[in-house]
Amino acid sequence: MFSRSSSENSFPDDFQSLHEQWNRRRRLFYLLGSLAGIPSIVVVWLQHRLDNPFIAVTYPVLILSGILWSLALLWKRIPLHWVEKIVLFSISALFLGKLIYLLFFFGDLETAWKEVEAVYWVMALIFILSYIAMERKWALLFNLLVLAVTVGVGIFRFWGIAEPLLVEYIRLEARIATTSFLLFILARTKDEFIRTLTTAHAMHQMAYTDPLTFLPNRRWLTQTLEQRLSRKKRFTLILVDIDHFKQINDTFGHDTGDAVLREVSDCLHHQIRAGDVIGRWGGEEFLILASEEEAQSALQLAQRLRKALENFKLEVNLSVTASFGVTLSQEDDTIFSLLKRADLALYRAKSNGRNCVEWETV
Ligand code: GH3
Ligand code: MG
Ligand code: MG
Repeated sequence: MFSRSSSENSFPDDFQSLHEQWNRRRRLFYLLGSLAGIPSIVVVWLQHRLDNPFIAVTYPVLILSGILWSLALLWKRIPLHWVEKIVLFSISALFLGKLIYLLFFFGDLETAWKEVEAVYWVMALIFILSYIAMERKWALLFNLLVLAVTVGVGIFRFWGIAEPLLVEYIRLEARIATTSFLLFILARTKDEFIRTLTTAHAMHQMAYTDPLTFLPNRRWLTQTLEQRLSRKKRFTLILVDIDHFKQINDTFGHDTGDAVLREVSDCLHHQIRAGDVIGRWGGEEFLILASEEEAQSALQLAQRLRKALENFKLEVNLSVTASFGVTLSQEDDTIFSLLKRADLALYRAKSNGRNCVEWETV
């Protein structure tokens, strides 16, 4: 909604841009992580490829994945959550592969156990990643699956031959399961927070947006006017009123009237600059706050808008014009005094035959 208006109008834009900013940062963070990680994996592979068959086989795959991942991150068209899911599944597969390798193919049980303990932190990483990459419910299910598989593998390996190690292993799993549970609670709190924020945002939108034109409404305009007046910096106020609008309603019906209002709002909105503001003041009236500080440039702006509307081809195959009342803010202005001048100017424009611009000084 206010995305169609200027930056100053834009609480909702802030919300949107926060989200985009968060996505951009995540992408950059992953990219830097991957660029920093690849060289270290290469170094480990060069050092251990001859004495460790697991590293010899899996690390080249990891390096290739890292390069592909970086390219995917650079190519912004690939959604971030895909990249995150791919990374999550790759790390999980790699971890499970390594666990099986350590438990079944890596020397004696005692040494294998030490190695297992050393790499178990990766599971916590997998859990954290899963809550980033997936919905809470799916992340929990995935975590439980990983836990079940690892417990199963441990029982299969230690059962009957190394009971104390099995107890240790289960204890390790229990600690990791607690991490998963805490993450679940954290993710739920985050989801609830986002839901509250989204609701607040939606309510804010409703309260400050005109539902027909999606422009800021009178409430929002009044607040913005108050802010502008308190800044003491001069600005231009233009009150726009569509000419003979009642006739359009009477002749073509209320729906056509609504369509005309939408199109007129689009036309005017596209004419103003990014820092200027337009809103629906009420009925077929629009209010524009522009940064012009001199009468001449303010009048030029209003004339430009008037001509743009006059030449605007409406989809409903009608032509419309509007009258414009222009005034400049003064230091001791209140909302009331400012609007009164604009209203007087507009009244004069109507009296002078409409489709024209009038000006009112103090
Ligand atoms: P003037 O040139 O003097 O401004 O004449 P006008 O007909 O534009 O002004 P008037 O105040 O007589 O009529 C305004 C009309 O705008 C009357 C009202 O029904 C109509 N109107 C107000 N809000 C809406 C709306 O949301 N949709 C539609 N379709 N019509 C609206
Ligand atoms: Mg009117
Ligand atoms: Mg009118």
